[in-house]
This record gives sequence, structure tokens and C-alpha cells, in this order.
Amino acid sequence: MTQQYRITLLSGDGIGPEIMAVAVKMLERVGQQCDLTFDFQDALMGGVAIDATGSPLPDETLSICRQSDAVLLAAIGGAKWDSLPNHQRPERGLLGLRAGLGLFANLRPATILPQLIDASSLKREVVEGVDIMVVRELTGGIYFGQPRGIFETESGQKRGVNTMVYEDAEVDRIGRVAFETAQKRGGKLCSVDKSNVLEVSQLWRDRMTLLAKDYPDVELSHLYVDNAAMQLLRWPKQFDTIVTGNLFGDILSDAAAMLTGSIGMLPSASLGSAGPGVFEPVHGSAPDIAGQDKANPIAQVLSAAMMLRYGLNQPLAADRLEQAVMTVLDQGYRTGDIMSDGMTLVGCEAMGEALLKALG
Ligand code: NAD
Repeated sequence: MTQQYRITLLSGDGIGPEIMAVAVKMLERVGQQCDLTFDFQDALMGGVAIDATGSPLPDETLSICRQSDAVLLAAIGGAKWDSLPNHQRPERGLLGLRAGLGLFANLRPATILPQLIDASSLKREVVEGVDIMVVRELTGGIYFGQPRGIFETESGQKRGVNTMVYEDAEVDRIGRVAFETAQKRGGKLCSVDKSNVLEVSQLWRDRMTLLAKDYPDVELSHLYVDNAAMQLLRWPKQFDTIVTGNLFGDILSDAAAMLTGSIGMLPSASLGSAGPGVFEPVHGSAPDIAGQDKANPIAQVLSAAMMLRYGLNQPLAADRLEQAVMTVLDQGYRTGDIMSDGMTLVGCEAMGEALLKALG
């Protein structure tokens, strides 16, 4: 029986509409192949939403997102809206979307594709075969803990304060996402904390250790964050899935991503406990190349693959999209951002056509 899904498309600004067009065509084609029907609905977010409604995340957009099975987002932002006050800027739309959909888990893969190995700044033997998923807690920890602020002390000094806080239920819910992610991958989970210094991290480690009993098929290990940063650069192949809090995850997910050396290739997923997840490239709206048919649509297509795998539980369709990406890279097609000697330079549209052809 045909499975039907409602997908909200947030194309946003800059190169957003160009790369989204490619991902939608790929989804339509893979839907035909795997007996899936996608009912796409466009909605406004970011700069385009500010221009049309005055708000970066109109109520109508949030309500359309809530009624869908998954949200596919491209990118938002641009110089035109940079001088607006903070609460009206496009980025506020992203924060509002995360809060509005209760997205507490951020999944960021860092996979080295053999065809792009030389784009990494590390040696081939160090990065070859790297395939890491960083699961970052997104709505708690020091970025949201109270008290926070800059206060004046009795002696007239200024004191900046932030609070790193996690409750056991918050650790458990991100932990469960991470264990389940590890089950879908290599079955290894490394929890990263700073429990030798921070009590909040001790709680984190204790809860992860307790949770592990429910997942006997996943091998759990622990690392302090400073050691994890070293190990990521020294021998990244030792990692399969990493789970960590908001602050450590912010830093480690960027470090892991840069092992791959190419921003136009990196997807991400943000998930809540129920309701739709949001799937989007790691990169921004690239205003410098917008409207010039130069954008690399692969991160957007891989975000659609993550949507199929982690949002809609359709791993076979996800595999097909990922395989199409491998095929076009094997065929030597490259957009400008990943171009190297001897390869064929193509624009966004031509890359999209090659991807569709590879999908069959
Ligand atoms: P960016 O990621 O947009 O661009 C950085 C560099 O990478 C640019 O040279 C760009 O041309 C290139 N690049 C990015 N994606 C590419 C792609 N798919 N294909 C080819 N080249 C690509 O970051 P930035 O320049 O710092 O930010 C531009 C705007 O995007 C800003 O308004 C920023 O706030 C916004 N932004 C949005 C998001 C998001 O929507 N999640 C994330 C980061 C930045």
C-alpha cells in the first residue's frame, strides 16, 4: 500500500530555493520507486517571511509545520535583514521553530566520502572511512540554564553568570535518541562529558550508564570532552555515534564536520519526542552565490535522506538517495565548492539532473 506523508518545505533565502528544487525532484522520484507519496506544502520562514509578513516565523508557518510528518528546511538569512533588531532577524525563526516543535536532539553526521577525501585538512590514512554521528542535546544545558546574566556585585564588579544544568529526564530522552541512533548504525555509543570536574556531568554519566542496560546491543563508552576533542583529530575512526550536551556538542559537531572539509555536503536532523523533525543542511544561505546556479545541492539531498531515515523510517528510500550522491561523485561531477583537478564542473541544476539520472 502506498504510504503517504505530508512534508513542509521551508526554502528560505539565498540559495535555499535552488537547492530545495533539487531535493524535491529527488523525493518525488524516490517516492515513485519506493511506493511513497509526498504531499509537499511550501511555507515562509526567514528573510522571505519577514518581507511578506514582518515575522521570521509566522504563526501560520509553525502551524503548517506542526501538522506535517516532517519539515525540510533549506537555509535562511542574508545581508538585507542583518540590520534588523535581534528579535526580528531571520535566525530568530530557527530558534522559534526548534522551540515550537520541541526539538531537543540534533543529529550531525560527519562522513568522509572516498571521492572527496582530499578536501580534508587531515592525512588520508587518518580520515579514510570516517563515519561519525554526533547527537547533541539542543534545548538544555548552559545555553538555557538559570540564573544567567551580567550582574553587579556588592563591590561594584561586574559578574557574568551562566548555569549548566541538566535534569535526569532531559539526559534520558537525549540518551534514548542516541542509543537508538547507534542501533541503526555501528552499535557503538560514546558519551562525552566533563564528569571529573562538573557535577552536572556526573549526573549525565550516571544516567547514560543506567540507560545502557536497556540497550544491550549497544556498546557504551565515556570520554571527557577534552580527550574527545583530541581523539577526534588523532584517530576519528574509533567513533561511531557520540552523544553529548548542548555546549560540548556545539563545539564537537563542528570539529567533526570539518574532518570532511566540505560544507556543501553536510546534512543535519533535529528531532523531538513526538511530532515532526526538521531536516536541513549545516550550511547557510550562501548569499555570495545565490541566483547564480553555483550552489551544491548535495547537503540538501542528504538532508532529505536523513528525513527519510530518521523522520519517516524509510531506510530503503534513504539508501537510494545516498547511493545516487555516491554515483554522481564517482562519475566525476563537482560543483565549485568541491571542485578538484580532472573533475567535471557543473552548476546546481546540472548536478540535480545528474543526481536524478543516478537515481534511475
Ligand atoms: P554560509 O554557510 O551561507 O556560507 C559560507 C561559505 O560557504 C560561502 O562562501 C558560501 O558560498 C559557501 N557555501 C555554503 N553553502 C554552500 C553550498 N551549498 N554550495 C556551495 N557553496 C556553499 O555561511 P555565512 O556566509 O556565514 O552566512 C550566510 C547567511 O546564512 C547569513 O545570513 C547567516 O546568518 C545564514 N546562516 C543560516 C544558517 C541556517 O539557515 N541554518 C546557518 C548558517 C548561516
